[in-house]
Amino acid sequence: MTALLEIKDLHVGYGQVEAVLGVSLELEKGQIVSVIGPNGAGKTTLLSACIGLLPSRGTILFDGEPIGGLGVEARVARGLCLVPESRELFGEMSVSDNLLLGAYSKRPTRSELLARRDHVYERFPRLAERRRQRADTLSGGERQMLALGRALMSKPRVLMLDEPSLGLAPLIVEEILRIVHDLRQDGVSVLLVEQNALAALNVSDYGYVLETGEVALHGPSAELISEERIFASYLGGV
Ligand code: ATP
Repeated sequence: MTALLEIKDLHVGYGQVEAVLGVSLELEKGQIVSVIGPNGAGKTTLLSACIGLLPSRGTILFDGEPIGGLGVEARVARGLCLVPESRELFGEMSVSDNLLLGAYSKRPTRSELLARRDHVYERFPRLAERRRQRADTLSGGERQMLALGRALMSKPRVLMLDEPSLGLAPLIVEEILRIVHDLRQDGVSVLLVEQNALAALNVSDYGYVLETGEVALHGPSAELISEERIFASYLGGV
């Protein structure tokens, strides 16, 4: 089976300093793949290179075709989408308007746009309740939901999430990751970057452990959870 997203021997740097040193990974259609690892391991850098915000060396294949030479917009048009750690919401605008802006780059018809928004409201009933509220008055968890919902408005095939659990209470993290897990039903594949290793592995099919820019270990998430080294380093076993 061809992977939907395949990265081969990717190198990404900031000037002379390489932050990602030859990473290879695969995401198949309908899969949730997590990338875990400590602060500074290169997780955000990897996602930035995939979406085209940073130049990289190596190969990035999307649906079998090289996309490494394309700009951000062209990658988004093909169906890649990144929800950055900062969430990038328009604070002074309402929940509803933030959602409608999410589909902007593909310019769907008005009725299609509203249908997509309704679908997001079904996935995130809390956003529906707060549809007229300004985004900057939302709680941290609701903001993350809005960032996710907005990304879904562009009907991505691959959703890349950078630390969706950052700064959120454990119960909210669970709720958000459950929604991420359910995205499979919409045909969305997910590349999930997380420092919260156990939570990420619990909802993903496969995991990669990144350490100082390199893949230290990878395997089915269930196996990684039971791996002693992972447990000791990331899952609270120290
Ligand atoms: P975190 O979870 O803390 O965001 P991360 O795994 O996402 O960590 P990156 O943010 O990708 O790690 O950082 C990888 C390395 O690249 C780090 O050593 C970091 O200091 C460096 N780095 C990140 N951004 C820049 C930048 N704009 N300029 C120079 N070096 C950078």
